Amino acid sequence: MKLILLGPPGAGKGTQAEVLTKKLGVETISTGVMLRAAMREGTELGKLAAQYIEGGKLVPDDVVVGIVKERLSQDDCKNGFILDGFPRTIAQAEALNDAGVEIDKVLSLEVDDSVIVDRLSGRRECKACGTPYHIKNKPVPENGKCVCGGEVIQRDDDNEETIKNRLKVYHEQTEPIKEYYAAQGKVVSVDSEGTVEETTAAVDKALGL
Ligand code: ADP
Ligand code: ZN
Repeated sequence: MKLILLGPPGAGKGTQAEVLTKKLGVETISTGVMLRAAMREGTELGKLAAQYIEGGKLVPDDVVVGIVKERLSQDDCKNGFILDGFPRTIAQAEALNDAGVEIDKVLSLEVDDSVIVDRLSGRRECKACGTPYHIKNKPVPENGKCVCGGEVIQRDDDNEETIKNRLKVYHEQTEPIKEYYAAQGKVVSVDSEGTVEETTAAVDKALGL
């Protein structure tokens, strides 16, 4: 299964990806997780990415396309993968296509803008492995650490100002790729405004799992 997860920031892509990875037995490739790892490590890529991420802007297409192509060429992606956070522009979708990658389905998680600011301000994330948590919907384990033992933090870009910018960028640059894949008959849409479990059930049904 070669699956793309699509939806605004805070739609629950990372949360559903975690469930789907186990069910489908394929890796999740999250550009957000990869870019933040590079930022923590202070690599050239990380320094470049930080300039965009902090303002809620998109990292340039050529940069992101490069890291995704390299990741998809690894052995553990041979039998399928889940893409979370990529493609995010029409140009990225075209680059994926030009690289000969054939996507099976695009799962669109639908959430209204009014729900998102609230969701993102309660979001937390493991600094070590990227596992998502939420103060209300998916609490951090009682010892305050991630299941992997890592430190759980709030992302710098989950502040109100940056969230508004990310939403604007989503509607302008990312949402059009839904049409791009719909034209290929690949889009399945799921309501993601309910609980994690409700969305998981809806996803299973939509994907026939
Ligand atoms: P969210 O879906 O909550 O916005 P992500 O972790 O997917 O969070 O992305 C965080 C930030 O990383 C984005 O705002 C953007 O700056 C950058 N980013 C992630 N994926 C891409 C991509 N495919 N193209 C460009 N920038 C990206
Ligand atoms: Zn962790």
